[in-house]
Amino acid sequence: MPFIVRPDLCVGCGKCERVCPNGAISVINKKAVINYARCECCGICATECPKNAIDFVPGRLIWGRGRGRGRGRGWAF
Ligand code: SF4
Ligand code: SF4
Repeated sequence: MPFIVRPDLCVGCGKCERVCPNGAISVINKKAVINYARCECCGICATECPKNAIDFVPGRLIWGRGRGRGRGRGWAF
């Protein structure tokens, strides 16, 4: 799970939910929650978050058979 939401910084504005191309984020109780079954690690949410509340956690990414859209190899977690 290379992208994580920091609940201490998230203000529940919902921008990440709107920009995620995979519908992987839901704002629940004013905090963003990432559905890792849908997340493709594109990083758009982290870029767009006005509070920098979505962190990239390096080291957990695995280069291998991609999930998502079935296009062969890619970054997975
Ligand atoms: S864009 Fe940032 S502050 Fe807004 S809901 Fe998403 S994680 Fe929280
Ligand atoms: S990294 Fe991309 S796919 Fe994953 S939750 Fe963020 S915007 Fe959605």
